[in-house]
Amino acid sequence: MSKHILIVDDCRTTRKLLIYSLKDTHYQITVASNGIEALEKMASCPVDLVITDLNMPKMDGLELVRALRGETLYNHIPIIMLTTEGKEEEKKKGLASGANRYLVKPVSREVLHNQIKELLRGK
Ligand SMILES: [Mg+2]
Repeated sequence: MSKHILIVDDCRTTRKLLIYSLKDTHYQITVASNGIEALEKMASCPVDLVITDLNMPKMDGLELVRALRGETLYNHIPIIMLTTEGKEEEKKKGLASGANRYLVKPVSREVLHNQIKELLRGK
């Protein structure tokens, strides 16, 4: 069965770009525009990996990661934080919240694919 990836970003263009960069893969993709929407979508359909932006309205990436890590049902799901925030302090916060990877935009298709593959393999 194909793996299911949830893309969470408030920017429509970024969501489109990410979908495009994963188009030749066999992943099933779902999108959400903030943390609240992400949790709603996850409640109705299980996902195997989450790629989330940091800065978003309603519920940002940090809050989303913390919510997922605090939930037995979701605390094992790999999370990639993908953001324009390149500061070391932000990266530390992101990883401390429970994200498995912290990538700074723009990220190459190759890097993204490799990170996803690694995480889905359980590294
Ligand atoms: Mg954003």
